[in-house]
Amino acid sequence: MSKLTMDKLVALCKGRGIIFAGSEIYGGMGNTWDYGPVGVEIKNNIKRAWWKRFVQESENSFGVDAAILMNSRVWDASGHTASFSDPKMDCKKCKSRMRADTLISAHAKGKINPDTMTNEQMQDYISEHKLACPKCGACEWTPIRQFNLMFETNRGVTDESQNKIYLRPETAQGEFVNFLSVQRSMRAKVPFGIAQVGKAFRNEVTPGNFIFRTIEFEQMEHQLFCKSEESESFYNTYKEKAMRFLLDLGFDKEHLRFKDHDKLAHYASAACDIQFLYPMGWEELNGIHNRGEWDLSRHQEYSGKSMLYTDPFTGEKYLPNVVEYSIGADRLMLAVLCEAFDEETLEGGETRSLLRLSPALAAYKVAVLPLQKNLSDAAKPIYEKLKKQFMTAYDDAGSIGKRYRRQDEIGTPLCVTVDFDTLNDNTVTVRERDSMQQKRVKADEVAAMVADAVKF
Ligand code: ATP
Repeated sequence: MSKLTMDKLVALCKGRGIIFAGSEIYGGMGNTWDYGPVGVEIKNNIKRAWWKRFVQESENSFGVDAAILMNSRVWDASGHTASFSDPKMDCKKCKSRMRADTLISAHAKGKINPDTMTNEQMQDYISEHKLACPKCGACEWTPIRQFNLMFETNRGVTDESQNKIYLRPETAQGEFVNFLSVQRSMRAKVPFGIAQVGKAFRNEVTPGNFIFRTIEFEQMEHQLFCKSEESESFYNTYKEKAMRFLLDLGFDKEHLRFKDHDKLAHYASAACDIQFLYPMGWEELNGIHNRGEWDLSRHQEYSGKSMLYTDPFTGEKYLPNVVEYSIGADRLMLAVLCEAFDEETLEGGETRSLLRLSPALAAYKVAVLPLQKNLSDAAKPIYEKLKKQFMTAYDDAGSIGKRYRRQDEIGTPLCVTVDFDTLNDNTVTVRERDSMQQKRVKADEVAAMVADAVKF
């Protein structure tokens, strides 16, 4: 990975149509981002690759797309209304609201884990080490209070509290509440999984870092329902499976590591993250949790509906345990971009900047480039054919060198150059992004070459 700063990545993403600041013409809206024409393709490809691995290729795995707005009792059952909160305090001078735990983490540089501290202990640490407001430098804080992270809204026309509903803060509950519907309709037998990709919303105070932590984001989640005695082994399987997925996307294993949670939720028997080495340091990319029977037991209790599963062979009735694997699509997108970004010095001293994206994730799989504009009669039919199968770019403006650079910059794995020889023998030059090697092939062979290159 070349030396990449977050500021550089933000500028790159803007310039290349990957990600723009949200509501930018109105001065932006803190921590919201819009995916541009290139970014939306990459993100969709990330979600597709994930779905392929965790639904299509996983036996006994079923997808759902649950509603974002759920009965608010769901969030009582899940514990979110009572305790989905962050410890926050306000700077008395500039009125900025900060997360106490984030401030301590940044100061302690990994030597202390604020997740294991009470609010009083955090307060003492902040006073003792005179932690100042990062915005104005003052050291005057209000006492730490817990703030719920859920966005509230009201259903219907009246503004009464009984109509209060929430934008879901996680997708997981959509999988849990549909456990029996999926099991019965798909005649699924435990162990089986329910997967979902969808938006979640958290009213977080975030210290920047681009799309790492945003108030609106997408999660890709897989909940495995299994017998209690099998949960530990599935937990380990999912750790490996989650890591394998990242390695297959092209991550260097030196940039990934497992990190066990220091503090477990009272119902969990094991929990870990996979962390990635982002420009700001090691941070969580995804989580894997062995959650016991907590989720189904809570929904059974709060809904009054039995969530028991009946074993079709033994007739035994029990509440399955849950092994959860959850990864943010945006956070993975950020890691993918950081990992792919590269700058190299070519012979002659010119700098080539490129995205070494896995071809499966690249926005455009191939670009068709006629050497000169007057070769469009030969180039257009090749483009027309390729675009039926792949996202294909067509570019006839500027020197061929500049056009290659433009495609390198957005990570297009293959470029097809149409020249005057094409008119005689219907051959084209195919150039590979990373090696810049060129090969002369029949125009009819290009589609098969692209298909082979972008397989995941
Ligand atoms: P963190 O400790 O970073 O707040 P978390 O442990 O609360 O994350 P989970 O609730 O386990 O995260 O969510 C699962 C995944 O969803 C995370 O690993 C991350 O990839 C993603 N995620 C969570 N919160 C955000 C956010 N605010 N913005 C972007 N992605 C997020």
